Amino acid sequence: MKKMTILDGKKIASDIENEISLEVQQLLSRGGRAPHLAAILVGDDGPSLTYVDNKVKACKRVGFESTLMKFSSTMAEEKLLKEIVRFNEDEDIDGFIVQLPLPAHISEEKVIETIAPEKDVDGFTNQNYGRIISPHHGLLPATPYGVMELLRRYKIPTKGKHAVVVGHSRVVGAPMGLLLAHEGQATVTQCHIDTHDLGYFTRQADILCVAVGKPNLITADMVKEGVVVVDVGINRVEDATKKRGYRLAGDVNFDEVAKKASFITPVPGGVGPMTIASLLLNTLHASKVRTEGNNKL
Ligand code: NAP
Repeated sequence: MKKMTILDGKKIASDIENEISLEVQQLLSRGGRAPHLAAILVGDDGPSLTYVDNKVKACKRVGFESTLMKFSSTMAEEKLLKEIVRFNEDEDIDGFIVQLPLPAHISEEKVIETIAPEKDVDGFTNQNYGRIISPHHGLLPATPYGVMELLRRYKIPTKGKHAVVVGHSRVVGAPMGLLLAHEGQATVTQCHIDTHDLGYFTRQADILCVAVGKPNLITADMVKEGVVVVDVGINRVEDATKKRGYRLAGDVNFDEVAKKASFITPVPGGVGPMTIASLLLNTLHASKVRTEGNNKL
């Protein structure tokens, strides 16, 4: 029987955290200071609260300093932009994130573009986004960076492979396609809501990366034998057997697609922990650049 391997993001993220912890200890022993990640949360969206909490907990695990600033959902856009400028100028903060989504009255574009690119550890600013295709890239978008790292650590070749990315959002799908094409040297097909006959494209994928937000979008008939599947989606699916009334599921019908895949990420425990690990890697990098000037961002 053919072998299928689970891409264990939780385990790889934990390995990365151990490596970062060591670096932090070395920094401290040389008289340096721990990297400092700050997060801004506007409103009380349940999943966002969980994501930010998980990021703060990860900082603690690796020995980073962390600051969490929570604001009410009615916060004025202008006030948020001022806070961001304050974070940009704060010498103690190496990197920060503004947790998305934001309330509708606040422009995400304006918010992102106010973040100083050298502190943009989510990798969302236009400058960091554009530099994905530069040999001297800046801070990479955290989720696609995490996916690339996961593929690298499982020694999954991307060069010359056909990578199909479903979804072309600014945060995940679009930068994922760029990274696979440029760093990964894959041949990339980018699919989205207007793609006719999605299965026609996904069936050609050697590597299938799905970032949509629709449970069970990808079924067994839509993939070929031996495909590598990276499921970025995180969906809450009603489940009366669970105490909280729901369970988390990806965009891929895991049970049936796993039977044909050579590698597949689970949800949860796949890409999610890798996104946090990438955020930590970006913060460490930003901190080193600021304090040691050993590399230009
Ligand atoms: P998003 O901004 O809503 O983008 C979804 C993308 O999917 C869009 O490009 C959309 O196309 C496309 N799409 C929607 N329906 C489609 C369909 N039926 N067929 C093909 N494409 C379709 O979401 P996102 O921020 O990229 O996030 C996607 C998913 O990943 C969500 O479940 C989110 O929770 C999850 N996520 C996970 C992590 C992690 O760390 N694991 C991080 C970020 C996001 P159009 O733009 O043309 O409408």
